[in-house]
Amino acid sequence: MRYYIETYGCQMNVYDSGKLEETLKEGSFSWTKDPSEADFILVNTCSVRQHAEERALARINELKRIKEKTKAVLAVCGCMAQRLGPEIFRMRGVDIVIGPDAYSTLLPAFERSRANGSRTVDTTRDSRFRFGVSNRSGARPLKAFVSIMKGCSNMCSFCIVPSVRGPAVSRPLEEVLEEVRALVAGGVRDVTLIGQNVNAYWDGDVSFAGLLEAVSSEAPAARIRFTTSHPKDMSESVIETMTRHENICEHIHLPLQSGSDTVLERMHRGYGTGRYRKIVNAARKTIPGMSITTDLIVGFPGETLEDFEKTCALVEELEFDSAFMFKFSPRPGTEAAALNDDVPRGEKERRLSQLISIVSRVSSQRSAALIGKSMEVLIETERTKGEVRFLHGKTRCNRTVQLNGSPELVGEIADVVISSSSGISLRGSLTHGQPSRR
Ligand code: SAM
Ligand code: SF4
Repeated sequence: MRYYIETYGCQMNVYDSGKLEETLKEGSFSWTKDPSEADFILVNTCSVRQHAEERALARINELKRIKEKTKAVLAVCGCMAQRLGPEIFRMRGVDIVIGPDAYSTLLPAFERSRANGSRTVDTTRDSRFRFGVSNRSGARPLKAFVSIMKGCSNMCSFCIVPSVRGPAVSRPLEEVLEEVRALVAGGVRDVTLIGQNVNAYWDGDVSFAGLLEAVSSEAPAARIRFTTSHPKDMSESVIETMTRHENICEHIHLPLQSGSDTVLERMHRGYGTGRYRKIVNAARKTIPGMSITTDLIVGFPGETLEDFEKTCALVEELEFDSAFMFKFSPRPGTEAAALNDDVPRGEKERRLSQLISIVSRVSSQRSAALIGKSMEVLIETERTKGEVRFLHGKTRCNRTVQLNGSPELVGEIADVVISSSSGISLRGSLTHGQPSRR
């Protein structure tokens, strides 16, 4: 039997989809890229913004038309399934609605649907870590996410995550190490530890810094990354740990959200711009080449032009390497949804495009400053554009690099001299035309 899967949203969903695929393969399914060939169609959804839900719903509607012809089973998984539960059955043609804590019931639900057409909704909560340790490297053998936490116990006033994913639960250290070991043994060279707020990790007396230390010592030949860091909980000991382990990459994703202290307060973020600035400056000073990326929201309720200009000014000052930028989207049940969404849509769009152009300029300047430097690049793939073939890789600071070279280099870490830049992307060539294998 074959399955087809589409994933929306954050790294957590990408990770969960990888685990769902492992479960399906163990249940003797094989993957197909064509939904019309599939016996089982899965859509792993995101609820963070209304737009994300609308996109998923539109796609589910299209997939429904396919399944009507092929008689496949259609499952809606992830945060939107958790949020809407049986309401999703209003879209006739959906057979299974399953939330992120209930994935162990996916295969029995599929069997029931095939046997007698019965529909299943399972949004049961489970505070335990639901997936076991992966013994295969999966579809992305060079890079992998490893979940270290699920849920979130913060109450940012705009965010739906705590209500759809539940409170923060840390995964036992031993289980994280076991998964990292298995992945590295399977050929993974770049491991990203993921959680909504990795700095809130605790297992007994092991903090996130302790976990980072243990993971980087366990896998000295792999690049280690982590996301998402929270400015409220980011500690000096994390930066200090990064300085002691060469394999921890010099990149921190540290969502700022707004450059205005009054807006940050209404967002209940738990830090001000002063603390944020201190972390960025300390990280850049301590670790040469440190890349800082961020998330920003424009048009939060009550955001004045002056508040927005403070965000623009802080972006210029802190010179982010890149940023994900969003228009505020009121999410049902969140505190901010009850506030007056008073920034008109057109004005949100104007602020967003102004911010995008500032971030693009600042980030291009940081890319241009790398020209002439030699950087370690993990060669990830060979790509083609028309007739031209080129290699594609990532620096330690997470920038994309294009270069010419033999496809045999895929999987190697090579020294590359940067020759030009375009936006956030770089072009370069192998040092002396040769890879230095690591
Ligand atoms: N846990 C991370 C943190 O605290 O920064 C981020 C998690 S969230 C999935 C990713 C990003 O989506 C957030 O950093 C925020 O910028 C954005 N986001 C979340 N809720 C939003 C909303 N209601 N409207 C617009 N953007 C939102
Ligand atoms: Fe949402 Fe805030 Fe938790 Fe991030 S830290 S997931 S923005 S509640």
